[in-house]
Amino acid sequence: MLRVAILSVGDELVTGQTVDTNSAWLSQQLSAIGAAVVSHATVGDDQAMIESAIRRSAEDADAIVISGGIGPTEDDLTRQAVAAVLGTELELNEGWLAKLKEFWARRGAVMPEMNRIQAMIPRGATIIENTAGTAAGVRATLAGRVDLFSTPGVPKEMKVMFQRDVLPHLAARSAGAALVVRNLHTFGMGESAVAERLGTLMDRKRNPTVGTTVSGGIVSVRVYSKFESRSRALDELAATESLVRGALGNLVFGADDDVLQAVVAKLLAERKASVTTAESCTGGLVSKMLTDVPGSSAYFKQGWVVYANQAKYERLGVNLEMLNVYGAVSEPVATAMARNARRLAKADFSLAVSGIAGPDGGSATKPVGTVCIALAKAAAGAPRRFDDSEVLVRTFNFPGDREMIRDRSAKMALTLLRYELLGERAPF
Ligand code: ATP
Ligand code: MG
Repeated sequence: MLRVAILSVGDELVTGQTVDTNSAWLSQQLSAIGAAVVSHATVGDDQAMIESAIRRSAEDADAIVISGGIGPTEDDLTRQAVAAVLGTELELNEGWLAKLKEFWARRGAVMPEMNRIQAMIPRGATIIENTAGTAAGVRATLAGRVDLFSTPGVPKEMKVMFQRDVLPHLAARSAGAALVVRNLHTFGMGESAVAERLGTLMDRKRNPTVGTTVSGGIVSVRVYSKFESRSRALDELAATESLVRGALGNLVFGADDDVLQAVVAKLLAERKASVTTAESCTGGLVSKMLTDVPGSSAYFKQGWVVYANQAKYERLGVNLEMLNVYGAVSEPVATAMARNARRLAKADFSLAVSGIAGPDGGSATKPVGTVCIALAKAAAGAPRRFDDSEVLVRTFNFPGDREMIRDRSAKMALTLLRYELLGERAPF
């Protein structure tokens, strides 16, 4: 497998003023041709640092792609660093000098002397033409083994030059190898619980590899399949994907670009079912997510945000005594909210959420993060009776701050509905 190192040069990158998007983009491009990106490095506009970064990158790579530091100013030192690492001098490239002069002539101007440096390239190297700017790229071979490409830092210029002159060369060296990736998303279990279920599938020596990442409480299982040909990589990916799905079952709600609310929306639409909401601590987040999806009017007509006890009583008819005895964050209250909302909205399903999002309001028995979620559906044998509901209710303890607790509560409510629509008992 072709190993590629990526190096970004620029003070603005190491100081954090500019986010290095070039490296991420280059990695994606290289992955698609089956090359393995072995490192990302970033250094400032400092010649010694650039030289040592090139040397270090070369140790583990068959090719190095550098972006940045080839402008005309004194702080642009990549070409000098490349020459030093190659053990050679910069020499004038007459062809590019002529192009530069022509570039200014077309604008009715004379090339500033400062730009002459942009026509200097290390002896033995070749030019990568730049049709969008004055900084030509440089291509050279290091130690007879490592392909080195130096491109501008300006993303637009770098991308054009990379795709036109660098990628085809590396694709040929990579000889048909391919990396294909699938992300399978889950919600409801922690990363370690998911990893436990995956067992030996997560063995690092395996190909395709299986790994997990977490974002917004969603644990995603990433399958990377790298093989000598694209068709083999796809076959192996499919085989591993089915093993992962076998291990996780319906915990997987979707793949790649799928989002939870769209998956739930699709299930509701397929079953021609409607849903309503009765929310306290989530303040409408569940209905927001349900209506994120285009076409949501097919399954969502209305919902309630009943924040105060008085509102729970006045709008949804939750018994005041029940509120006083059990408290708003309790299974009986969440159950009543779901049951009554379903009856009033005449919906097939109803989701109710009542919890303590914090930072205040927690107690020893009900700490911050305690959230009751209820799901009401038609009672067995009475599909069209909205005043006769069967309710599933659960109490969760979500970690994190207010925003996290509200987010996880809404996702969990949707997840309970998803399991219901799949006709399976939720494992939480
Ligand atoms: P060139 O080699 O094209 O002359 P340079 O490093 O001399 O590049 P700069 O003026 O430093 O040019 O950068 C040009 C622009 O490109 C700046 O806006 C800079 O923030 C942006 N840039 C440089 N490197 C990156 C990177 N790795 N990711 C995203 N933007 C970048
Ligand atoms: Mg720069």
